[in-house]
Amino acid sequence: MATRLLSSLLLIATLPLAPIAQAEWLSDEQSVMGTVVRIELWTDSRKAGQAAITAVMEEMRRVDRLMSTYKEDSEVSLINRQAAIEPVTISAELLELLARSLRMSELTGGAFDITYASAGHLYDFRRKVKPSADALAAALSAINYRHVVLDRANSNVKFVRSGVRIDLGGIAKGHAVDRAIALLQARGIQHALVSAGGDSRIIGDRRGRPWMVGIRDPRQENKAVAVVPLSNAAISTSGDYERYFEADGVRYHHIINPGSGQPVSGIRSVTVVGADSTTMDALSTSVFVMGVKKGLALVESLPDVEAVVVDADGKMHYSSGLMRR
Ligand code: ADP
Ligand code: MG
Repeated sequence: MATRLLSSLLLIATLPLAPIAQAEWLSDEQSVMGTVVRIELWTDSRKAGQAAITAVMEEMRRVDRLMSTYKEDSEVSLINRQAAIEPVTISAELLELLARSLRMSELTGGAFDITYASAGHLYDFRRKVKPSADALAAALSAINYRHVVLDRANSNVKFVRSGVRIDLGGIAKGHAVDRAIALLQARGIQHALVSAGGDSRIIGDRRGRPWMVGIRDPRQENKAVAVVPLSNAAISTSGDYERYFEADGVRYHHIINPGSGQPVSGIRSVTVVGADSTTMDALSTSVFVMGVKKGLALVESLPDVEAVVVDADGKMHYSSGLMRR
């Protein structure tokens, strides 16, 4: 017994002093896609961790170049200029995301509709511009996701009529976050959080504890109305406070009812939790448009999706799975 103890002590003493892998949390925050992209990850190699962060930020910028309506040379801008004239050939990635957007439209009874932009482009929230009643009425008939026709065999998209515009602002950030997470997983990262504005997704836990993700008070920037413990999940919040201006006592914000072309009233924020960011991003926007009752009914019908809604009076509504917690 004594000799065994002694030999193991000797063994410890002869272990090399360095290098013991120094595992650590790395994080970075950059401005991409008109929002703040944040990455936190656990790595035992600072070099590999930094390389992963650089790759994720570049991936976010790539998605933005592909899908931004603010960039003249993005594929989405090309579609908006050309697709009413002739079919436009697009990348497989964009075709897939358009197909998912249209499926979300079907699932939400048209609440989620990327052609909202046919009227949506008439608003400029930074410059406090809203369309006149006439301009809005003229644009309204161009809003309908059925105006967007995908041809998978030929990798193209066309609009069936003029005046149609699309904008992926309700789903592209979620897509970018999912791409980022896939990239981190491919690099063997087992604990990470990636967020782009109101869309976050988490790999693993925070090393033995869940991640605690706060849901912002829609009327007080630094206050949380709830904190959700999460691991291996995606969470997305849509709020009326992200882009808005006020005129004549009305809050003009960026979530548009496809039926009226006007900002949705009745809700301040919607948070949904589920498996992937692309679906959650589109779903938070959809539930916002559908309203508390129909929106929560949709959430209840989806497996493994939960929601927290803050209505126009500041009252909180939870899906049944969260109530149980
Ligand atoms: P963010 O994370 O940018 O706050 P949200 O997930 O709340 O975004 O989605 C809002 C964005 O979705 C808007 O800025 C607009 O680009 C787009 N959008 C607005 N209304 C709709 C709608 N009815 N269907 C699909 N997309 C919409
Ligand atoms: Mg969204």
